Amino acid sequence: MRLILLGPPGAGKGTQAQRLVAKHGIVQLSTGDMLRAAVKAGTPVGLKVKDIMDRGDLCPDDIVVAIIADRIDQPDARNGFILDGFPRTVHQAEALERMLREKGLELDGVVELQVDEGALIRRIESRIKETLERGEALRKDDDPEVLKTRLDAYRRQTAPLIEYYREKGQLRAVDGMRPIDEVTAAINWIFSKPSTKPASLRKTQGKATIPVTAAKPKVKAKPAPKKTKPAAQTRRAKGARKPAAGKAAKSSKKTAKRKAGRR
Ligand code: AMP
Repeated sequence: MRLILLGPPGAGKGTQAQRLVAKHGIVQLSTGDMLRAAVKAGTPVGLKVKDIMDRGDLCPDDIVVAIIADRIDQPDARNGFILDGFPRTVHQAEALERMLREKGLELDGVVELQVDEGALIRRIESRIKETLERGEALRKDDDPEVLKTRLDAYRRQTAPLIEYYREKGQLRAVDGMRPIDEVTAAINWIFSKPSTKPASLRKTQGKATIPVTAAKPKVKAKPAPKKTKPAAQTRRAKGARKPAAGKAAKSSKKTAKRKAGRR
């Protein structure tokens, strides 16, 4: 399984990625983590990107693309991977596509965790309040202003990616505001039964948000009811006569009367 998780900071990508890793035996490839490790280890790449990362800017595409290309070749990624934090721009997405094609690999899909940004901000505000009430120290990222800036960056840099993958028919949107287990179930459902997608989803070509309720086993086991062909159509297909119905019924009654009259 090879997939991309898209979503703003705080959408729960990390949590969902960990669950997918555990369930499918794949690896989570987070460019942010890899770049931070490179900075910490003082590698040539780390030295190049340190200042850029400190400013919160995006690192050069060629560096991140090379890191991912190299990582995908590692034996532990053979089973599949979840890309988290990459691609971040359409340019990176195009590079990824070329890279995968050259390696003879295909993406299984792109999951967009849709969240209500206002709710994310309210969530962080109440977490700060609770932390302070407990007399504990705040986490570095417990700052609504920082979150707003990151959300803004996500909207500017990554939103075009959503359209990019939607146009390719690869985007699957999931309601990220639902409880964690339901979101996980929805993602698993997407990748376990691609052929029994709900009819509504097929019609909208990935524009719809997959209702997390669709992930419940009850729904999973019950694919959308097949539009059953009217019996008439089936019989006609076999060369049988059209059964009487509506106008046709009246006319066949008339015919019967005429026939009876003739007798
Ligand atoms: P993250 O942990 O995903 O928020 O990433 C932390 C930082 O790493 C970002 O602010 C960027 O400086 C850099 N970074 C991570 N992923 C990418 C990427 N795909 N393209 C460019 N820079 C990235």
